[in-house]
Amino acid sequence: MPRPSQIRIDLDALTHNATLTRQLAGHRKIMAAVKADAYGHGAVACARVLNPHVDAFAVAFVEEAVILRAAGINTPILVLDGPFDSTDVAQINHHNLWTVVHNDAQVNLLRDAQLSTLPPIWLKLDTGMHRLGLAPQAFAQAYDALQAMGASDITLMSHLANAETADDLVSQRQLQRWQTAIKAFDGPTSLGNSAALINNIARDTDWLRPGYMLYGGHPKGVGEHLALLPVMYFKSHVMALRDIKAGETVGYGGRWCAQRNSRIATIPVGYADGYPRHAKDGTPVAIGGKLGRLAGCVSMDMLTVDVTDLGDVHIGDVVTLWGNSPGIDIVAAHADTIGYELSCRMPNRLPRLFEGGH
Ligand SMILES: *Cc1c(COP(=O)(O)O)cnc(C)c1O
Repeated sequence: MPRPSQIRIDLDALTHNATLTRQLAGHRKIMAAVKADAYGHGAVACARVLNPHVDAFAVAFVEEAVILRAAGINTPILVLDGPFDSTDVAQINHHNLWTVVHNDAQVNLLRDAQLSTLPPIWLKLDTGMHRLGLAPQAFAQAYDALQAMGASDITLMSHLANAETADDLVSQRQLQRWQTAIKAFDGPTSLGNSAALINNIARDTDWLRPGYMLYGGHPKGVGEHLALLPVMYFKSHVMALRDIKAGETVGYGGRWCAQRNSRIATIPVGYADGYPRHAKDGTPVAIGGKLGRLAGCVSMDMLTVDVTDLGDVHIGDVVTLWGNSPGIDIVAAHADTIGYELSCRMPNRLPRLFEGGH
């Protein structure tokens, strides 16, 4: 029998979240971010389920797009990083991809390729995140250059650094620059990710680019009022149980010390399975529907949970590391990270089971 640890992907929850996102988007178009293997949920399976609900997909680089094309996904796919070299340009052309252009080198790559028709281009403006994109002046020049090369389909895009908090200074400054830019531009526009969509920032753009909310996540607690459902369930079973006396410690380094006589459950999931080693004592772990607390350092293949207050716990009881309760964002907060990181770095060591989606 295989060990009981697994990732379950609830494709019906994905459909539910996509439907809800569609409602929130109203008349605006939706580009679903499925980069990084759909944030660790499985890009091909997720794209197939999302396909009827969205207008396009976004991936980080060309190889991620080619995987979707090979699986028969013919919907538009935007390459967010744009081409790195001439091979990428050829692939973008061959696979009918859309591409971001975020610097002059990419304008030159497209020019040098001498394509008979340029792909749809999302020209990226740096409004203040200062990671990718052209400054306003360079943006205008690149726009003119692309038009001179025959580009007929150019979308203006930018990205917000802090959409989770709508009215902070970083967002305000970015939004001012954005407003100025779109006045001088008559093509379609796109600014918002999940948090921007939920916080209703940049209402007047043509395209929304949600990712995390489709998987049921709440970026920094944004959207907790919405009925988004978690798509990823990290499951296991209780593997061992023991009673220890007050004063005994648990796990490597003896980090957790029993303040009272305690019952400890051992779960066959460790950091090699994607559970964060940084998780602190007290991180919630659901056992048989009740919440126990992580007790002691997470090992490579195992972790230990204080189940003293949980009543009857048995070997073989079902454990949820994250899913509906506890949510992935709660676990992430206990490990000083975000749910995005936890879901997208799940290793292949765990079997991934897809449920629903028909
Ligand atoms: C990943 C990404 C998104 C999606 O962000 P979420 O926070 O997951 O909604 C949108 N736009 C760009 C440019 C991205 O890289």
